[in-house]
Amino acid sequence: MLMAFDHAEFERRGVELPRLFPAEEQAGFAFADDDALPDPMDLVRQGALVVASHSGGKDGQAMLVHLVERLKVPTSQIVCIHADLGEAEWEGTADHARANAEAYGIPFLVCKAQNKDGEAKDLLDYVDQRGQFMSSSARFCTSDWKRGPIRRTINAYREEIGHTSPYVLNCMGLRGEESSARAKLEPLQFVKSASCPPKPYPEILEAETRATRRVFFDWHPIHHFSEEQVFATIAAGGQDPHWAYTTANARRLSCLVCIFSQEQDILAAVKHSSKGREYARRVIALEEKHDHTILPLKSMGRGKPPVKRWLKDIVGDLLDEAA
Ligand code: SF4
Repeated sequence: MLMAFDHAEFERRGVELPRLFPAEEQAGFAFADDDALPDPMDLVRQGALVVASHSGGKDGQAMLVHLVERLKVPTSQIVCIHADLGEAEWEGTADHARANAEAYGIPFLVCKAQNKDGEAKDLLDYVDQRGQFMSSSARFCTSDWKRGPIRRTINAYREEIGHTSPYVLNCMGLRGEESSARAKLEPLQFVKSASCPPKPYPEILEAETRATRRVFFDWHPIHHFSEEQVFATIAAGGQDPHWAYTTANARRLSCLVCIFSQEQDILAAVKHSSKGREYARRVIALEEKHDHTILPLKSMGRGKPPVKRWLKDIVGDLLDEAA
């Protein structure tokens, strides 16, 4: 089901309509071993399963609109997956992502991290056992709570629907503008570790396997979008972003307190959300218990040592007022 995509929304906002693709030409991305990667739209035409990972944030939402409305990926080939981080999430994120998918008649799946016994794993319980928070060099929150569960859900879903094409395009709304690390990401990346058999591309296409062949790519369809283009795309698709952006004035809809959060986002989460206050209290208790802060060091300028930032110093007063 396509909605009318309102191109005039870009003109009204004075925002340039984003190019369809991150690169002018989709084909020919340099690959690690110098083989060219395929054009993802060719893989779509060959029946690839297109997975839209959607946390409930603006980028996943704009990506879904872009895939459907502008790239014209058939909705019958798309599945939307939300990795549920439980307590760490803003209120209503899963419902919001579900509504975005259902507006297009796209199946919506929720996955959760589980331990070996199949029980749901809680992120802060794990931090407590480990005695340290995640960090940019130990991002178990992303690998174990998002990437792993999403990949397992994709495999189970392919089996369930009897997906016959070997191709999986795992789409994420990462944008180059967000950080220097994200700017370096290729718009399309072959993922050997998620493929079967685990051979390099294109050798994998011919390699012997008795299991179901899976040729898995990470695709970043809106890598070239600016923040203004993200919000304009959502509006042009006739949708609204999650209330955290509009009511709470958050800049990012990450975890309520994320290792990459700016103070504005943490304050927004604590001011406008009872879940945010509860989560912040738990994080502060763990910071105190383990003498380890969730936030990265704050640079104080050249020649000065960086300083530790504690969550309590940022939101302690707000939490006291709300108590
Ligand atoms: S939003 Fe931040 S804290 Fe949450 S999983 Fe991602 S990196 Fe980790």
